[in-house]
Amino acid sequence: MPSSVVVGGGAVGTAIAQTLQLSGFTVSLIDPCDAQRPASWGNAGHIAIEQIAPLASFATLRGVPRRLVAAHGGLSLPLRALPQWLPFSVRFLLAARPGRAAAGKEALRQLLADAMAAWERYAVQLRQPGLVRADGHFIVWSHPAAAERGRRNWLEADCGQAYFREASADEYTQLRMLTVKPIAGAIRCVGSGQIADLDVFATAARAAFLAAGGAMIRSRAVRLAHEAGRVRVELASGRHLDADHVIVAAGVGSRPLLEQLGHRVPLIAERGYHVQFGAQRWPQTLPPIVFEEDATIVTRFQDVVRASSYLEFNRPMAPADPHKWDRIEAVTREWGLPLAPRVSTWVGSRPTFPDYLPAIGKSRIADNLYYAFGHQHLGLTLAPITAELMGEMIRGGGIADHLGPFDLARFD
Ligand SMILES: Cc1cc2nc3c(=O)[nH]c(=O)nc-3n(C[C@H](O)[C@H](O)[C@H](O)COP(=O)(O)OP(=O)(O)OC[C@H]3O[C@@H](n4cnc5c(N)ncnc54)[C@H](O)[C@@H]3O)c2cc1C
Repeated sequence: MPSSVVVGGGAVGTAIAQTLQLSGFTVSLIDPCDAQRPASWGNAGHIAIEQIAPLASFATLRGVPRRLVAAHGGLSLPLRALPQWLPFSVRFLLAARPGRAAAGKEALRQLLADAMAAWERYAVQLRQPGLVRADGHFIVWSHPAAAERGRRNWLEADCGQAYFREASADEYTQLRMLTVKPIAGAIRCVGSGQIADLDVFATAARAAFLAAGGAMIRSRAVRLAHEAGRVRVELASGRHLDADHVIVAAGVGSRPLLEQLGHRVPLIAERGYHVQFGAQRWPQTLPPIVFEEDATIVTRFQDVVRASSYLEFNRPMAPADPHKWDRIEAVTREWGLPLAPRVSTWVGSRPTFPDYLPAIGKSRIADNLYYAFGHQHLGLTLAPITAELMGEMIRGGGIADHLGPFDLARFD
């Protein structure tokens, strides 16, 4: 029976491990399971299939000055992290050129086209029929000028399999009951969705992996030892693991592992923050709401409401900036949202490449090495489809042509 080792037990690594189990492989999943929860369980829960345009574009660049100076623009470039974000910005500028942005959009369109269906298949595999809610999401604005600009952008945008429509009169009424600020405009996405609860997902995925005979190894991979064209995984515990396939899916932790081997991995930690509140007064089934002027998304999960924001380009382990949590809470209070007191805060890293495309492929350095990371703002959305593609690639034994845009060799 072929054996696989997956490094990284976030949403991407866990989904890959389970796909390989379905193919009859013996799978070990390595993760230190630190107290600091990774982005996979701290994110906004949005299945964002509408985001087919990579953020590496001139449109994003045009918004940067406003986002840096606005009261809550959500963008943060800490001076101490200049050595991290300056080289990233140069590469970002190159990737934002119209030809490359258009190619990136086509690549992401293909990947997102089947992402919702892949989630539905995954929910069946996990026996969690209520996990995926394909009810779309709202975007709202408080200023008429912002509403007009935002509406024009989204109603006319190419959103792949999703699209936006004006909020209905009933939906306006429902949204207005939630806020004290006037709502100048609201639209609803059709085709996007949310994961009903990320803790339920995490628990169900781990349990299903173990029930199918998977081995969960609580340790950190410190090195991929390269010998005779193959790698084996060295763990912090001192143990070594050999396998037919080694798949690195360790989010921002993937970079040092692959750079040691000679891969170029210009990945940055694009950190986000969330604040959670008691959900007693928040409607149970209301889809996520994006407050676009405040760069904040609010999502109802089973027991909490989570408000998430910020793109902070930083080192993964830099201390959190508590002002950002206060600022997120202030946004929710300014809108007058019906939230119970704050129950918890979190900061975590999106693994982001300068071209805002993930890395999914087979190493050109070691024969048994594969990788899947760098899913930026879309790692939750893309986890199941990434796992399916990885499964096909490993069963097929080669580099899949249609995954060319996601090959790490693009940075060589
Ligand atoms: C505030 C915020 C909101 C977001 N909202 C959304 C959203 O609504 N929708 C969406 O699709 N995406 C969203 N994202 C992005 C999404 O969360 C990430 O893209 C996704 O979590 C990446 O998943 P991953 O499994 O690749 O990495 P991670 O979630 O980072 O998991 C990586 C795992 O690898 C482990 N690891 C790291 N190094 C090692 C090592 N050396 N050895 C062993 N294990 C290791 C870590 O412990 C971790 O468990 C959001 C992100 C943030 C920060």
